[in-house]
Amino acid sequence: MDEKHAKNQVSDASKRLQAIIETAIDGIITIDESGIIETVNPAAARLFGYEPQEIVGKNVKILMPSPFRHQHDGYIDRYVNTGEARIIGIGREVPGMRKDGSTFPIRLAVSEVFLEDRRMFTGIVHDLSDVKQAEDKIRKLNEELEEKVIERTEELASVVNKLLNTNKKLQYEVQERKSAENALRESAKEIQKALEKEKELSELKSRFVSMASHEFRTPLSTILSSISLLSRYTESSQQEKRDKHITRIKSAVRNLNGILNDFLSLSKLEEGKIENHPLEFDVRELCPEVIDEIQGMLKDGQIILHEGMEEPMMVKWDKRLVKNILFNLLSNAIKYSDEGKEIFLKERLEGEYLLFDIIDKGIGIPEADQAHLFTRFFRAANAMNIQGTGLGLNIVKRYIDLVGGSITFESQLNEGTTFTVCLPLHQNSQ
Ligand code: ATP
Ligand code: MG
Repeated sequence: MDEKHAKNQVSDASKRLQAIIETAIDGIITIDESGIIETVNPAAARLFGYEPQEIVGKNVKILMPSPFRHQHDGYIDRYVNTGEARIIGIGREVPGMRKDGSTFPIRLAVSEVFLEDRRMFTGIVHDLSDVKQAEDKIRKLNEELEEKVIERTEELASVVNKLLNTNKKLQYEVQERKSAENALRESAKEIQKALEKEKELSELKSRFVSMASHEFRTPLSTILSSISLLSRYTESSQQEKRDKHITRIKSAVRNLNGILNDFLSLSKLEEGKIENHPLEFDVRELCPEVIDEIQGMLKDGQIILHEGMEEPMMVKWDKRLVKNILFNLLSNAIKYSDEGKEIFLKERLEGEYLLFDIIDKGIGIPEADQAHLFTRFFRAANAMNIQGTGLGLNIVKRYIDLVGGSITFESQLNEGTTFTVCLPLHQNSQ
């Protein structure tokens, strides 16, 4: 009874084991020492695409692709002889081969079993296809991701480049706009300047008219009063008084003449009627002629000391223009220095240029006024009670430009003034 019970228990256990083997998800294969398959569970047969009876009794190598297939006998032999394990008791990832020749990855765990003095090996085969596929998928996804990252990076780079370009363009536009604004501001400034110049000119014109009428009135009333007085001096003993008035009249007329000349040459210059016609002549003729013509303007005791060229020297100038320049500068030197003062007219040669110094020991020019001297109608603060219109130097400057020369001056208040005119020896006509 007990024995039967024991037998029943064994057969129960073996049935249960059989059931477990039959329903296992992993394949279970047993082989003998020479590699011949003894049992196969349905999962193993299914994995390799065989019916169980097709492989039982066959060498397990048929489930392996080359080169494992050929090496397999060696494996078992080596293990049986040396105990050196490659797979047995370890478990490895190896390829399996289905009936149709296709291969697939498996995890193979082999264990050694001794049954009734017989050595057997049990292999548990786990299909890794899904895991491998998943791994492949992950690898592929990773690769795709990497490609995408590269793609995106490139896109980003091109966007950044575009942005940079746009930025550059914007900067350029800003620059352009700025320079346009500057140009606008510049032209606005120029217009403003022109307007101011126009305004200044119209102010000058009205000043000119009032000044001219004033300038004319003084010598004219002098002439009028002297003439009416002259008619009263009928006695011959009154000749001295008559002479005094005649001198006065002469000087007033000269004055008027000077003012008229100024105005005339100014308007002629403005209309461009005055031209430069240079002709050759000996420069030594020039200054004596000017000095001779100006004698009548000298105050009592004033004298013009001339230092000219000693040797004959030919120049090619429009004599009349140069004479006018010197005449104006000398008349200023006379006008703005006291009686008895010396005036110098010196000639110097410097390379291709002849320089004239007109030196006086007169009232000088205040520093603050020096910058405006050549401006039309400008008169220095210390010259206001001396007759003049402020035209002379403006005309001089224009003549100088016409003949291609230059003019400079140095002045010390109450000490004197030196004007220097520099002319090229040979002028071209214009
Ligand atoms: P105009 O010559 O038209 O009769 P003006 O002598 O006043 O009048 P400019 O010859 O143009 O005019 O001279 C301008 C101003 O320069 C003078 O009013 C005077 O203030 C100053 N000036 C010119 N030359 C001298 C000088 N040699 N010494 C001192 N001041 C001078
Ligand atoms: Mg003058």
